[in-house]
Amino acid sequence: MPLSLYNTLGRKIETFTPVHEGKVGFYGCGPTVYNYAHIGNLRAYVTHDILVRTLRRFGYDVTHVMNVTDVGHLSGNDDTGDDKMLKSAEERGKSVLEVAAYYTEAFFKDTERLRIRRPDIVCKATEHIEDMITLIKRIEAAGFTYSAGGNLYFNIAKFPHYGELSGPKPDEQKTQARTEIDGNKRNQGDFVLWFTRSKFENQALTWDSPWGRGYPGWHIECSAMSMKYLGEQFDIHSGGIDHIQIHHTNEIAQSEAGTGKHPWVKYWVHNEFLVFDKEKMSKSAGSFITLQNLVEMGFDPLDYRYFLLGGHYRNQIKFSVDSLKGARNARKSLLSTLRLVGEKAKTAGPGGVSEDSVRAHVEAFDTALEDDLNTPRALSALWGLVKDCGVPPKAALEAAFGMDRVLGLDLEGCLHGAAASGGMDAAEVESFVAERAAAKAAKNFARADEIRNTLKERGVVLEDGPGGTVWRYG
Ligand code: AMP
Ligand code: ZN
Repeated sequence: MPLSLYNTLGRKIETFTPVHEGKVGFYGCGPTVYNYAHIGNLRAYVTHDILVRTLRRFGYDVTHVMNVTDVGHLSGNDDTGDDKMLKSAEERGKSVLEVAAYYTEAFFKDTERLRIRRPDIVCKATEHIEDMITLIKRIEAAGFTYSAGGNLYFNIAKFPHYGELSGPKPDEQKTQARTEIDGNKRNQGDFVLWFTRSKFENQALTWDSPWGRGYPGWHIECSAMSMKYLGEQFDIHSGGIDHIQIHHTNEIAQSEAGTGKHPWVKYWVHNEFLVFDKEKMSKSAGSFITLQNLVEMGFDPLDYRYFLLGGHYRNQIKFSVDSLKGARNARKSLLSTLRLVGEKAKTAGPGGVSEDSVRAHVEAFDTALEDDLNTPRALSALWGLVKDCGVPPKAALEAAFGMDRVLGLDLEGCLHGAAASGGMDAAEVESFVAERAAAKAAKNFARADEIRNTLKERGVVLEDGPGGTVWRYG
């Protein structure tokens, strides 16, 4: 079965055929670095990671590009609201660039903890202003712009394919969402390519341009940077579903207007939202959970990764601490099962991945991924493999580690962590943890500390939280 992906452009599952055989150019919209990423944002990057790892498993030579937005993103996405970076800098009493540097580092710390591979190219908007200006000039020369009130706007009425990505009646939906009317716009769907005097007199970062000193609109950065690194037409572009209506729709319009080439991007892959109490988790609303919050609650970041893999990227996932605990238990039990397989492999004879008994599981795994990145089914294939006593343990271990190169659960590292702990298995650790809880309840703190130290020496870290003690191989 060939790899198929749901393409938002056309709204159907399509067989994936790259623009250039064997190669894939992939651009995933990156973070706006005015605050920590919340766990909903991180779902988007886990989705990108699974996509890239899957493409690589199937032999594609992938170039993954991601931007870092450090200028021009307004809270309304459609040129309405506050400038996110500016507002954050003012609130924190820092410069925009200081805020950007701090949250960019925090973002990569989170993605590393989630074992999200760093994109091949990470590009900052503020370092690509010249590329944006060059593209805007092309769009202007092609007749798609007008100036009003000091801004340069993209005129959507001139672009016949406008709104194809967002589906029927995009204007109606957009009008409902809009909170401010910009009197300079000929059509409220028009968007700013370059700001000079319109909204933020106190804009911290400005550049000279043919339209005056100012700064770029948000959408143009993704068009300019993706084309710089991936060429004028490339394979896959992705982001969360909230980007379909405005950001990606506008990216397509300006890119195709500038180059005259259609389609700009072949496949559009959008992840659904992680929701919290039926509402979407939102950074700008200020109410959000970070990965660090989960760690402080005693979870391993990989518990969260496992939790996300348990849902298909195109389905909404409801977040709750209970369901995350369920994922943690499942991951622990996967590791214990795998540890047993590892024990058996030490004494068992050989058995390669080509064995029929293994092949069925590997095929189930690959078919699940080929079917629009179905990670819940891929996880079940992994489970089927590790629980199948008919598979020679060495072959099972090898195949499981191979699957994990896509799932990214660091199975091998976790098992080695166990080995480094003097082979202490989960059951043994649990019994120490229970004994320590009893010692603490009996106010025998000396014994409780002794147990903590013993475990530490054997590579097991304990973390006490409101929900009790959790442990991990350190
Ligand atoms: P931002 O930093 O706000 O530009 O968002 C980064 C990425 O996270 C984008 O791809 C968004 O579409 C995505 N995103 C935002 N909120 C959520 C959510 N609650 N669940 C999943 N993805 C989200
Ligand atoms: Zn983007």
